[in-house]
Amino acid sequence: MSPPALYMVYILSVPTPTIHVIGAGVIGLSTAVWLLARGYKNVILIATDLPGDPPTIEYTSPWAGARWQSSATKEDLTGQRHDRDTFAMLWKLLAAYPGAQTGIIAIPAHDIYRDPTPDEKAPWFKDFVPGFRHMEQGEIPANMDYGLQYTTLAVNPLVYLPWLFSRYLAMGGTYRRATVQSLIEDDAADCVINCTGFHAREVASDPTVVPTRGQNVVVFAPHVKRTVSYKGPGLYAYVIPRSDGTVILGSTVEPEKKDPTVDPVAAKEVLERACNEMCPELKLDGKLPKVVGHVVGMRPVRKGGPRLENEFAATHTGKRVLITHNYGHGGQGYMASWGSAIHAVDLMESGYLTLAQEGAYAQNVFSRL
Ligand SMILES: Cc1cc2nc3c(=O)[nH]c(=O)nc-3n(C[C@H](O)[C@H](O)[C@H](O)COP(=O)(O)OP(=O)(O)OC[C@H]3O[C@@H](n4cnc5c(N)ncnc54)[C@H](O)[C@@H]3O)c2cc1C
Repeated sequence: MSPPALYMVYILSVPTPTIHVIGAGVIGLSTAVWLLARGYKNVILIATDLPGDPPTIEYTSPWAGARWQSSATKEDLTGQRHDRDTFAMLWKLLAAYPGAQTGIIAIPAHDIYRDPTPDEKAPWFKDFVPGFRHMEQGEIPANMDYGLQYTTLAVNPLVYLPWLFSRYLAMGGTYRRATVQSLIEDDAADCVINCTGFHAREVASDPTVVPTRGQNVVVFAPHVKRTVSYKGPGLYAYVIPRSDGTVILGSTVEPEKKDPTVDPVAAKEVLERACNEMCPELKLDGKLPKVVGHVVGMRPVRKGGPRLENEFAATHTGKRVLITHNYGHGGQGYMASWGSAIHAVDLMESGYLTLAQEGAYAQNVFSRL
């Protein structure tokens, strides 16, 4: 047999792993769906919070904007890969499931900067997103320096998460609502994929995770059809329309402040800046749009960026288990979701092969004794 054929026989002889995905945010759900799409059968999603639950500050994904606006630098090839793969997948989902069922929309983006960095001036994605162009000086507000326009994608999490979860179940995935105290609690799983968001600080004992509060205002303004962002030193603001006619106006950035109470002063500032400066069409007949809600969520920021990494551990009976980490996506979890899922499943496959080789080696040694 040729070496590639031998390799195939070897791969096929590796037993199908039982995989636990811990976490049902956008990262855990995308990872779990991608595992099923890759042909894995024994996939169990385990989470404290699930799509459709009443809102809680403990579960970030339902609170997101959630728009694609890659902030990967030219050097950050992994971040680019995550964001590129996600853009491509969301675009395919939009085409495959038309109408409002996924909560994904394609809209013009106006990214406006004060004092932009070289990466912001000429982002890596300029030849990749449709309709990219530099805005004319006359199109940019006087107090800002630079602008880009392109077509981007925005997701309504309150539609998208339940839709993704229903796809997961329809594809044969199973789930259990539970809070794990440790990533490996017993011998049930061969592989565990850790998608616990900002809770990874405790679950994975990772002090580099810095939960970062974001407070947004939700208005009803179905006539707004573009997303606008303002970025610069000390400046981070955005307007993101959703599939249901609401528009998200943001945002605050408050590391380590886990307070679910809406701050009315911050809400007023966000609302007025969005309507008076960033996107004047939010106002109709000079009136501010109707506020229909507020958002307070914790971004799973991690110093050094998301953690995509394998770790080998043992249960109390000595069974070796693979842990693949996929958390710490900060304010980029939606735009990196599919790319991170693909990356995590690739990592898991190579890690599991190593585990299986270890097992085969041990059996081989013991069969000679
Ligand atoms: C205001 C705001 C605006 C944002 N806007 C954007 C945007 O425009 N674009 C973008 O890409 N991103 C945006 N984000 C970021 C994005 O929301 C996050 O990066 C993303 O939701 C993180 O998803 P996650 O699955 O890692 O975490 P989560 O959604 O928090 O999910 C974690 C899951 O793990 C489970 N879990 C945790 N611990 C345990 C345990 N011990 N046992 C069992 N289960 C456990 C939880 O129950 C939950 O199911 C925004 C975030 C905020 C707050």
